[in-house]
Amino acid sequence: MTLAPFVGHTDPRHDALRALTQGSLPQVILVTGAQGVGKQRFALWLAQRLMCTAPAGEPCGSCGGCVRVLGLVHPDVHWFVPIARPKAGEPEKQMEEAAELLGAVMAERRTQPLWSTPDGMASHGIASARLVQRRASLTAAEGGWRVFIIGHAERLVPQESSPEAANALLKLLEEPPPRTLFVLTAAEPGLVLPTIRSRAVPLRLGRLTNTEVMEFLSAQRPELARTKVVEAARGAIGAALNAGDDSHAKAIRAAEEFLAAVADGAVASTERALKQAPWQARGDFTAMLDALAETLAAQAQEALTGSVRSIGNPAAKLAGVERVLEAREQAQGNVNPQLLLAVLADDLAQLEAA
Ligand SMILES: [Zn+2]
Repeated sequence: MTLAPFVGHTDPRHDALRALTQGSLPQVILVTGAQGVGKQRFALWLAQRLMCTAPAGEPCGSCGGCVRVLGLVHPDVHWFVPIARPKAGEPEKQMEEAAELLGAVMAERRTQPLWSTPDGMASHGIASARLVQRRASLTAAEGGWRVFIIGHAERLVPQESSPEAANALLKLLEEPPPRTLFVLTAAEPGLVLPTIRSRAVPLRLGRLTNTEVMEFLSAQRPELARTKVVEAARGAIGAALNAGDDSHAKAIRAAEEFLAAVADGAVASTERALKQAPWQARGDFTAMLDALAETLAAQAQEALTGSVRSIGNPAAKLAGVERVLEAREQAQGNVNPQLLLAVLADDLAQLEAA
């Protein structure tokens, strides 16, 4: 399978094509815009343009370069997405593991080219930073451009434990090798490390029109092509896809059940947390914790604006969000999810009662 067509964003495309013709395209770009609006897809389109043999204008879509970019197999397009923290201890082994994890994500996207937001625990850690440097130090496999796409750049974590790797990445962004393009994407550029942000030229993508979203869904995911879904997506195809993602819906349901259990009282909720069906995958578990933090934050917001009086104390909800985020950190270690939930249930109940 190949990537789904790139929809909309005509002005940014024009600007990028013009900059390319004039030789003025910045080598480090930070693409910003709402979650799911097409930032990484834009980066891939740009990569396609650079690998395309057609002289100018939109990439042709049929030359060898285009076909390989669209099939996610081009050796000079390196797409980095947040991944789980490698388990190996040694830097070299960690990097190999990161390469394998990324390879697995890409293999999945080749069969299912409509991706959803990565697991909340996934990040661009030190191993990924080293892998970027390693690959950037090699020459282009095909002698032309090389493109590095770093999706969800908010998740580039500060490399305090390995300042030399962090500095090497910064140096790479400061003086990119010739014919090398870095495209970082972020829905919340304010959360991107300032040292990274200051080295990139920002490029903002606006929201799509409802018609564009509807057309895309009709062609790619007809079961989601409904007015209600399109309106809720607010011009972001990714939001519509997330809404149709069963695992996301499942995570939210699990979070709601958990909060209802907490509201029933600490003892009952602990018991119920322990009785919950075992989590099939750690990803499901962290998705549920993400949904939990999201739900509590939304409740705090509602309680603050006073629209829902009965919902409780906003300060307790916000403290609850903090507590859930801590639990997410702990979930990365080798802890038992049931046990972690039981303790979390107790803590949340105490916060509500305080
Ligand atoms: Zn082409």
